[in-house]
Amino acid sequence: MIVGLFVNLLPKYVEKSRNQVQTGQVTRITNETKNLHQSLFIADLHADSLLWDRNLAKKSNYGHVDIPRLIEGNIALQVFSVVTKTPKNLNLYKNTDDSDNITLLAIAQLWPLKTWTSEFERANFQAQKLQKLEKQSPNTFYLIKTKQDFQHYLHQRKTNSKITAGLLSLEGAHALEGKIENLDKLYASGFRIIGFTHFFDNELGGSAHGVLKGGITEFGKRVTQRMDELEMFIDISHASPALIEDIFALSRRPIIASHTGIQAVCKSASFRNLTDEQIQKVAASGGIVGIGFWPTATCGEGIAGVVKAIRYVVELVGIEYVALGSDFDGNVMVPFTALNISQITHALINAGFNEAQINNIMGQNVARLFNNYLPNH
Ligand SMILES: [Zn+2]
Repeated sequence: MIVGLFVNLLPKYVEKSRNQVQTGQVTRITNETKNLHQSLFIADLHADSLLWDRNLAKKSNYGHVDIPRLIEGNIALQVFSVVTKTPKNLNLYKNTDDSDNITLLAIAQLWPLKTWTSEFERANFQAQKLQKLEKQSPNTFYLIKTKQDFQHYLHQRKTNSKITAGLLSLEGAHALEGKIENLDKLYASGFRIIGFTHFFDNELGGSAHGVLKGGITEFGKRVTQRMDELEMFIDISHASPALIEDIFALSRRPIIASHTGIQAVCKSASFRNLTDEQIQKVAASGGIVGIGFWPTATCGEGIAGVVKAIRYVVELVGIEYVALGSDFDGNVMVPFTALNISQITHALINAGFNEAQINNIMGQNVARLFNNYLPNH
């Protein structure tokens, strides 16, 4: 019975306590705003929803993202990021790699046995979850892997807004387990974006929250080169400043910061939020900066903090380089769930952004990037 309780109740309890929603942030919006919101192509660059024990085909009353809430909120494209290892006593400043929370989560959620000991298998398993979701949700959910997939999806969406799509990303390339051939396998599983490090230094380089916080390793260089060949995107969120520098110097592709805060508007003593120079380099690469919704990205200011960060990036580098990077379901408190993403549209109107600018910020920039730079097949 104890085991039964552990397996049945623990995952739900854990998720409810981890993925919270701040109260008092959602306000009423006018029909005019609703209409504008419905006309937008909305994309979000980061959600960790695959980590949890929820059927994403069904609408839940906890957590932040599922297919029905994406559709109801009019989010056209959600990047699903995959977490495979997080340290105990996780913090923004300094973490070692010798402990792991995900092992217990994998066991409690009864993931396949091979995932209990392998980060690579955890990545594959979560990718399979998204593939299954697509099979379970014909005509409502599409997994985007290629330029053609994306164009086909955009075409569908012209006549039907009751559909949504996902794209796979990996948060921490320790899941490669030091083997370059695993990169091609993860590509085959559908991964198109990879963040080199998560909360600890790994075989590719330093984390913003690691011990040494070093630059790129020889293995990291090989991964960069192969990712460029495969036409994948490198995500610099969570990387150390030295690793970020090295990636900019080596990769020839547009660089993504999938979910981030901005130092100039939300100063952090850690290296997690991006500096002006880093943002300028993302823009120079033709990439994009996804603004995060969680307290250490917004300095606790919720929606107002998100808008402040968006405005700052627009003024620094231009309207084409900013996007949303919520970190929904990422073990964080957010101002609202996917259902109420229109709160950002509302706040952008109030902040004086015009329709064309709102269109770019809310997702058109992401659509342009994927339309131009996803692989052909
Ligand atoms: Zn993250």
